[in-house]
Amino acid sequence: MVSGKMMVLSNGSGGRVDENEDLMEFVLEGPASSRLIRAANHGTPVFKVEGQIGFPVIMLTAGIHGNELPPQIAALKLADEICGLEITGTVYIIPFAVPHATMKNSRRFKGFDMNRAASKGGSISNDILRATETFKVDAVADFHSTKPMSNPGVESVFCSRKPCFESFKIAKYITDVTSSKIIPYDRAGTFYSGAFEDECNLHGIPSVTCEVVSKNCEVTPGSCERSHLQMMSYLKYFKII
Ligand SMILES: [Zn+2]
Repeated sequence: MVSGKMMVLSNGSGGRVDENEDLMEFVLEGPASSRLIRAANHGTPVFKVEGQIGFPVIMLTAGIHGNELPPQIAALKLADEICGLEITGTVYIIPFAVPHATMKNSRRFKGFDMNRAASKGGSISNDILRATETFKVDAVADFHSTKPMSNPGVESVFCSRKPCFESFKIAKYITDVTSSKIIPYDRAGTFYSGAFEDECNLHGIPSVTCEVVSKNCEVTPGSCERSHLQMMSYLKYFKII
């Protein structure tokens, strides 16, 4: 059994996520998720669970796009579950990267897409990137949802082969386990700049972006379970569970 520690980053990002009824309809509040929802009023909440030390330190993020609900719900569930498990290593869980955007059920924060702003000092996604370095994490997985007929529009994992080949290995593992599509780029950050995953890879932290299919601003049936399965596969890759 492990116990969790709560921190808050980026205090301009806070919001009442419990005002988002489309989100809360699917949240079964447990001890960790209740604390995360309250902490989100003050900024980006980070839940840290520490098992045996000397093993991988990994991070999971969701809600960089506040209107992509399934991964945020799955991350809350994972935070509650992980407290009851024996884990190896350390896990940082950020279910709401931008609580203010989640509150508004909005893709953007103050007009900006936070998944294009990770290289920009002072942005929330840049604050999280800096936190990955402060916390000395070995890998990051960023969880999203994608609406049908969009890009990518299918359950998938984005990754790159360079500069961190492990990005590709993590994506290969998750997509093999979940029978979904791997979308590998040769080099991180080539197609557009400022994606959180790409910036992590460019900073030497292997990272992937996991997508499940759901309409924006709502939960398509089964999508939370698929996102949760991606998260569990990520933990298994690192033998955390
Ligand atoms: Zn997204």
